[in-house]
Amino acid sequence: MNSQNSADIAIVGGGIVGLAHAYMALRKGYRVVLFDREQFAVGASVRNFGLIWPIGQEPGIGLDRALRSRGHWMEVAGQAGFWINPNGSLHVAYHEDEWDVLNEFNTIYSDAGYSTRLLHPEAVALKSALVKKEGLKGGLWSDTECTVNPREAIRRIPLWLQEKYGLITRFGHVVTRIDMPHVHSARESWKVDKVFVCNGADFETLYPEVFDAQPITKCKLQMMKAVSSIDNLNIGPSLCAGLTLRHYAAFSKCASLTKLDERYDTLNPAYKKEGVHILLAQNGQGELIIGDSHHYSKTVEPFDNEEVNELILGYLDSFTQLGDLKITERWHGVYPKLKGDISMVVEPEPDVTIVNGLGGAGMTLSFGLAEEVIGRL
Ligand SMILES: Cc1cc2nc3c(=O)[nH]c(=O)nc-3n(C[C@H](O)[C@H](O)[C@H](O)COP(=O)(O)OP(=O)(O)OC[C@H]3O[C@@H](n4cnc5c(N)ncnc54)[C@H](O)[C@@H]3O)c2cc1C
Repeated sequence: MNSQNSADIAIVGGGIVGLAHAYMALRKGYRVVLFDREQFAVGASVRNFGLIWPIGQEPGIGLDRALRSRGHWMEVAGQAGFWINPNGSLHVAYHEDEWDVLNEFNTIYSDAGYSTRLLHPEAVALKSALVKKEGLKGGLWSDTECTVNPREAIRRIPLWLQEKYGLITRFGHVVTRIDMPHVHSARESWKVDKVFVCNGADFETLYPEVFDAQPITKCKLQMMKAVSSIDNLNIGPSLCAGLTLRHYAAFSKCASLTKLDERYDTLNPAYKKEGVHILLAQNGQGELIIGDSHHYSKTVEPFDNEEVNELILGYLDSFTQLGDLKITERWHGVYPKLKGDISMVVEPEPDVTIVNGLGGAGMTLSFGLAEEVIGRL
């Protein structure tokens, strides 16, 4: 072993979870080495919408973590120099049951820490000219949501951490074994005091028995990128509609959700079967990011289903007027999905911590969670 190879902390994984832990540790003055198996990040963290989405989190620890994360995103983006848009979000309602859920949410959580306001159709139109007006009952405006371009941010953050705090990066190094105080990749061994394993959907390489014992599986999501025929199209806030209300935990306590759920099941059972709800985000280049679907299994089907993409685009068309869309990319991403909790923080042996299971909210929660985890050192 090279005697030079030592650090206080090793991080396994250069997705948003690993980067957030590296950031928090570096800020506390630790010497940190970060490993990723790939030459550059290609996991869930670059395949997502880039939405920081506090509105989806339940009041309490979820919302608190999301709002603290939002603060860190704003600071990191400013310092590292990548695009971030604090453009808020808009949930739009076309049916009485959707409007009921938005009203109930806004009433029962008026003091919970959300920053929401109900809007009548005319006010919705002022927030976004691209929401369909016909049949619109109103919308729920929230001003805490932000958008980043994940492809830019996730590649920029490690470079900035290197420049500003001396992060040591080892991209293209798979960590194959940890026997404390040593971390081994196929090419190097490092002596470290602590390890944070932020390995995303790879449950198979490190501590597979720990993942076997957790209520965790994988979720595959289909996504698309599109450009519009409308010049300089600007969606304003990130947009979503009724199907999203049955997706996020934040709305699950609304009694009025049952009626909405039943109506959508009658209207088209495929929405639930394919796990389809729609978010529309826009990046700094004006491109539209459209998704998604949810399919759960430990081994992920490698082939994308075009019928699912059509279901997504059909629903998007029901509440937006985006001109003619040209789909420029299609892909899928995979994240670990934990049952019954919003994160998994497990110590398989002394000085090793696995941080995983942030599901569909890793961009929203990672900085806040990392602040808590590294704060305990
Ligand atoms: C399509 C899609 C849309 C989403 N949209 C959003 C959104 O808008 N907002 C939001 O908050 N969340 C969203 N999410 C969820 C979010 O992307 C994830 O929760 C988050 O990216 C998980 O981050 P991670 O670091 O755990 O995983 P990853 O980004 O997958 O990173 C894990 C990294 O670990 C590396 N690795 C694994 N094992 C090893 C090893 N043994 N040695 C070295 N390296 C290793 C991998 O190469 C990988 O780079 C979305 C997810 C998907 C898939």
